[in-house]
Formats: sequence, structure tokens, C-alpha cells
Amino acid sequence: MSEHVEGRIGRRTHNAGALRAGNAGETVLLQGWVHAIRDAGGVMFILLRDRHGLTQVTLDETAPEAAWEVARRVRLEWVVEVEGVVARRAEAAVNPDMPTGEIEVRPTRLAVLSASRPLPFTPGTQAPVSEQVRLQHRYIDLRRPELQRNLLIRHRAAQAARRYLDRLGFLEIETPVLTRSTPEGARDYLVPSRVHPGEWFALPQSPQIFKQILMVAGCDRYFQIVKCFRDEDLRADRQPEFTQIDIEMSFADRDAVMAVAEGLARHVWREVLGVELEPFAVLSYAEAMRRFGVDKPDLRFGLELAELDWGATGFRVVRGALDAGGIAKAMVVPGAAGDTSRKTLDAWTEFARRYGLGGLLWGKVKEGDAWSGPLGKVEAELRAGIPGVSPGDLVLVAAGPAAAVNAGLGNLRNHVARERGLVPEGVFRFAWVVDFPAFEWDEEAGRWVALHHPFTAPKPEHVALLGTGREAEVLSDAYDLVCNGYEVAGGSVRIHDGEVQRKVFAALGMDAEEARARFGFLLDALASGAPPHGGIAAGFDRWVMLLAGTDNIRDVIAFPKTTTAQDLMAGAPAPVDPEQLAELHVRNTV
Ligand code: ASP
Repeated sequence: MSEHVEGRIGRRTHNAGALRAGNAGETVLLQGWVHAIRDAGGVMFILLRDRHGLTQVTLDETAPEAAWEVARRVRLEWVVEVEGVVARRAEAAVNPDMPTGEIEVRPTRLAVLSASRPLPFTPGTQAPVSEQVRLQHRYIDLRRPELQRNLLIRHRAAQAARRYLDRLGFLEIETPVLTRSTPEGARDYLVPSRVHPGEWFALPQSPQIFKQILMVAGCDRYFQIVKCFRDEDLRADRQPEFTQIDIEMSFADRDAVMAVAEGLARHVWREVLGVELEPFAVLSYAEAMRRFGVDKPDLRFGLELAELDWGATGFRVVRGALDAGGIAKAMVVPGAAGDTSRKTLDAWTEFARRYGLGGLLWGKVKEGDAWSGPLGKVEAELRAGIPGVSPGDLVLVAAGPAAAVNAGLGNLRNHVARERGLVPEGVFRFAWVVDFPAFEWDEEAGRWVALHHPFTAPKPEHVALLGTGREAEVLSDAYDLVCNGYEVAGGSVRIHDGEVQRKVFAALGMDAEEARARFGFLLDALASGAPPHGGIAAGFDRWVMLLAGTDNIRDVIAFPKTTTAQDLMAGAPAPVDPEQLAELHVRNTV
């Protein structure tokens, strides 16, 4: 990815990625970092680097002695200034892998602008460096061309999003960072108030409440590229502070919000990668769970799950699961009978167990259709239930509680696809998942909790089910956008009717008093002439991960946190002075 920078910046005539054969003969002035040095005895090569690229500076017997004196002194990652003449390289020295590979700069003057202390690693060396060391010295790691490219992709994506939303009449409006608890359901980051002893701000888990209030305030169309804070256990695709493209629209139904978000993704992919996205599939939550076991299916490959109608089976393991109210599902891995060892099957079983499955049953379909393995005994029953099984295929079956079967097989599906090379590169398969259950049962709390948040509108035809003990059946007008197995956006039509809101709070076990205490100002706003409205928030870091082709979220954030929520460069979190704590009316208990 190259950049075109207009005009001359400072003393530089060009950046380090700009010179081509056509510039031969020109006198230039470059500034940048020493990426590599090679002393070939009598000839010295210095690779000069900046964010735009690399240029070779070659000193030979024609270089002035003063330049030689500096060249012998410089070390990797020093910052230098080179004045010289662009020369075409000899045929044999042309480097086709470098955009500037046809030329070199022959210096007439070389000067050190800044020296560097000895560094634990440099961007130009290939030696493996742990992520911990890289994060401690983020300013050095960020000099790597890969990370520079990711920052550029991030910038382009943000600018494209802004242009698209601006064109559709969305206003970019900032909302507070010091606020009170928001309804996303994760743990809050809290900030003590100095001025109000014993009282605390919460950092927003999202601008949810404020964006709804902006709709009540008549802003019509709002967006913000905004930091959100959630104190959750971290994963490879999660950070404690992350960025959303947050959107809310008035007088909009589900389809209108989905159309804007889909258009936004299409626009960003087109602008950043030049890619025209395929049509977005639409799946109900129920269909996604049935076919893929998860609500963020990766549609780049098959391996769909089949629910087995094993009502009358005598097969012991399955019988037990069904009698306990569970389900049984199968996944067929085409052509895997021959090359899947016992060791692999054991590893897959271990993998599935992490999701609460007791185990995996397997059967290898041989030539002539006989099945080997534990499923051999129920071959006839299975054959009827799973269409399209051919000799050479491997059949995996899981039985148990629905949640464990779906999570176990659903995640194993992704794992197996990756292991067997079934995931095509450079492909983006977007899909909408709609018609989510409004509530899920929280075992620990012994009550229903909102699957999205308590302001999500139930489907109008399901409102009548509220308060009748049939909460499990209530579907909501919520929608998630998924791509390649990641949830990349989520939102909903909001409740704008006070009576429906009261019923939803009641279903969540929240009485009027508690609802008032937590969200009173939103409820007042919603009772003050609220337009019908809905919105969505896109996980911007995940978008950039997909655009950049990485599965590590830290690769697309300039200053990320570790998986244990630390900033290793700044050394945060860190103890503070007792006086600061006293001022905040806070005492350390550790
Ligand atoms: N605030 C929600 C979230 O962050 C998104 C939305 O409903 O718009 O998940």
C-alpha cells in the first residue's frame, strides 16, 4: 500500500519510498532511520527507512571523505540526513522486490540527526523477539513496515467510514467518557470523584444511552468513532478499551439500519482494499445455531452441522443425552477418514471438551460404505440422518446439553477447517444474524438477562408474550453482522414505548425503582417525545484486523494492552501516591 504525499515536507525532497528510475540524475535530500548497514569493503550500503519505504544509499570511492567518516560511525536506527544524486543501479544490482530497487542514492553529504541507544531489537533484524519485548518498546516495533501498513489501513478505514456516513447525513457527535454505568452488561472501569466523596464515574461500555438520548434530542442521524471500555476477560480479538463505529438513526426500522451498516462495510472494503463484497447472507439466530453451532458462523467453508433425529435410538451415550433433554449433532469432514489419526481425534476431543462436551464419537466411512470406529455400531441409523456421506469421509457426533453440543461442535468446526486447510485466504464472507432471543437464562443469578441490552425492542408480535412466563420464546429486533467467524457489528431497534420498556424491565427482574435508579434519565428522555429509533455499533478494531489480514487485535492498535490488560510500554496500571488516593477518598486494601 503506497501513499501519495502532496508537496515538499520540510527539507526533504522525497520520502524513502518515492524514488524511481525516472529520478536518475536528480539531486535529492532524504531523512530517515538506518534500517540496515552492509560494509562490502570499499563499498558501503546503508538502507534508509521511513514510513513510506526503503532507499539504498551507496558509498564508494567517489563519496566524500566526510560522508565516509559519518557512515563508519552510524549504527542501526540512528536518524540521518542524506544529500546526494540518484543513480540507476547496475542491471545485476536491481532489486525487483523493492519499489525503489532500480535506484540508489550516491551521497555528497551525510549527517547524523539523532543517535540511538543500543536497542533490544531493530525492525530490520529477523531474530525472533517476544511480544512482551516488542510491546515494551512499542515505538521501535511500530517502525516495522507491517505495523506501519496496519496503521495506514486503520486510518484509511476510519476516513472512509467518516466520508460515507457524512454523505448520508450522519453527524459526528462526541459523548462523555466520564459518565455512569451503561447497560452492556460487562464489568465497568470506575473513576473515583474527588469533588463528591464516595461517588464514582464509570467509563462507558458504549455510548448506548447517550446516542438514544441524541435521537430524543432530534439529532436524527448520529455516529461516532469512539472508545469503549469493558473490564472483561480478554481474548485474541478483545481489548479492554476498543473502538466502535457507533451509529444511531431516528425513524428507522431494522432494514434501514442494516442497509446503512451494510453500505458502510461495502464502502470501507472498496475504499481500503478495492474489493467488492459478495451479497451479505441473512440467517436467523436459530438457523445459525442449527447449521453452525455458533451465532457468528464462518461461512468461508462447509462442514455444516446436522441435527440427528435419534428419538428411538438405543445407542447408550446418545440415549443418555436425549433422555436428559439434550441433543445430538453430527459433523461430516469430507475425505478425512484416511488421514485423521487417533492422535488427531484425541486432540479434537480435548478441544471440544473445553466447551463442556463429554466427548466425541467418530466413524470413518470406508470403501463399500462400512463404518469403522465407535459409530460403526449405529451406522444404519446415522446414514439415514446425515445426507451426502461418502466413502472416505469422517463423521463426528456429539451428544449432550444443547449449549455444549453447539459450542463444542461449532468451535471444533472452525478448528478442523483451519487444521485441514479448508479456509480460503483473502475471502470475506459477511452475513447478518437476525431474530435473536431477547433474553437468556443466567444460571448463577437465577433470572433472565438481556442478550443484547435492556433497550432492545422485542419483535412487535412477541410483546404479548412478556409477563406470561414464555420469556424464552421472545425474539428481539436485534441483528449482528458477522464476517469470517467474527462478530463485526451488533445493534437493534430500540424500545420507544414506555409500557413495553416497563414489561422488559419486569422480565429482567428489575422493578420500577431499580430501573429508575440505573437508567432514570434515559427513561425520562424516552417519555419526552422519543422518535422510533435504532442503531448499531461496529467493532472497528476487528474490521481493521480483517482488512489487514491478521488475527491478532494488537497488530492493529497503536498502543494495545496485553491479554492481562496491561500497557507494558507506559507501565500501566501502576500504583499511585497515597496522597492522590487520600484526595480521592479511596484506600488500597492490598
Ligand atoms: N451499544 C451496543 C454495543 O455496544 C450496540 C448497539 O446496540 O448499538 O454492543
